[in-house]
Amino acid sequence: MAKLTPPPLRNDCFAMPQGAHWTPVDTALAHLKAHLSAVTGTQTLPIAQAAGRFLAADVIAARSHPPHRNSAVDGYAFAGPAPEGPHELPLVDGRAAAGQPYAAPVPPGYAIRILTGAPVPDGADTIVLQEDVTATKSAIAFHGPLKQGANARNAGEDMTAGTVILPAGRRLTPADLGMIAATGVGTVSLRNPLRVGVLSTGDELAKPGQAADNAQIYDANGPMLRATLARWGYKAIDLGQAPDDRETLRAMLDAASDKTDAILTSGGASAGDEDHVSALLEGTGSFALWRIAMKPGRPLALGLWRGTPVIGLPGNPVAAQVCTLMFGHPALQVLAGGDWPVPHRYSLPAGFAKSKRAGRREYQRARLTDGRVEVFASEGSGRISGLSWATGLVEIGDAAANIEEGDPVSFMPWGSFDL
Ligand code: AMP
Ligand code: MG
Repeated sequence: MAKLTPPPLRNDCFAMPQGAHWTPVDTALAHLKAHLSAVTGTQTLPIAQAAGRFLAADVIAARSHPPHRNSAVDGYAFAGPAPEGPHELPLVDGRAAAGQPYAAPVPPGYAIRILTGAPVPDGADTIVLQEDVTATKSAIAFHGPLKQGANARNAGEDMTAGTVILPAGRRLTPADLGMIAATGVGTVSLRNPLRVGVLSTGDELAKPGQAADNAQIYDANGPMLRATLARWGYKAIDLGQAPDDRETLRAMLDAASDKTDAILTSGGASAGDEDHVSALLEGTGSFALWRIAMKPGRPLALGLWRGTPVIGLPGNPVAAQVCTLMFGHPALQVLAGGDWPVPHRYSLPAGFAKSKRAGRREYQRARLTDGRVEVFASEGSGRISGLSWATGLVEIGDAAANIEEGDPVSFMPWGSFDL
């Protein structure tokens, strides 16, 4: 099938209407949802290669499931119903087994040995469990009542030929593959995996595992973000560490934009002297600095570098990861051809107390202990150990809150972000 590549994103796709000083999380999300679209091409592949990929087209059942009326149990088939009371039926010679149907009709008043999955022969529609039967070679006896159709699965009761069983944009789960296969479909149209570059910025960064002096810190964001992207099924491309030097960064972004569909940078995303990601994106005319009313998280720098969307994350690892989960996860999923994901939130009792003022949303590293949501001891955005300690985030809404132990709070396990 011909490779299709979608049209490029518009240069103003990240331009947020001016006015509000701080943009609420939901407004920022709504903006991304409204302005982003798939940037990946498509290809048709066997379902064996489709796990975790996004459907580029609806999947339509090639045939019904089950394709024929068949038995749900091992037992004996006959024409039902069987009213209350004892029954005795002669057996036909032969049996119906899975893959070995009994071709002739079952005569009225007769029963036939049938095994699970076997097509129910004509003349029969009801099956009595073998455990409920006394049988000889030539007859069975059992007690009613048995409703007509008992223990039989009807043709097409699960899925109907010609109908859409999965929509374009769906990320295929293992169960989806089973379902697709069951309807006789062997290949599916998929989006090519999104190639996402990860670039860490800052003069202070050293590569993990290499010698570093005390003025340096190790690049924690790079490995964390690349592993996150890999979990989402994207091709994570290591773009390394960029110094706080505009021309070097420019050259790195140029090279990166040729081999990526999207770029995540971390650090240098604010409006300070050494915030070169923002400065460079500003020169493209596509730049937007989003001041999102949330903690953690400073501005998010967004723009297109030679047509490639760049999400400029804060440098602090906790802020970088929270922004990646809250904004990067849905944004990248749409760029990859997926539908817009909304993380599941579970209302659970707080294992902590906290009061906060109105005006911004807060995300804290959290985990479940004995059914209660516990938060990490420190809210410091540089404390990367808390991300590892946590099994999810607790979300505390934009409004003022006075949370006491036992109050319901909104917990989002990492699984809510497909991690
Ligand atoms: P920035 O956003 O560049 O001002 O960085 C904010 C903080 O995050 C600073 O303390 C940086 O040293 C730190 N930081 C930036 N990038 C990384 C990284 N890749 N790994 C760990 N810490 C980082
Ligand atoms: Mg920096």
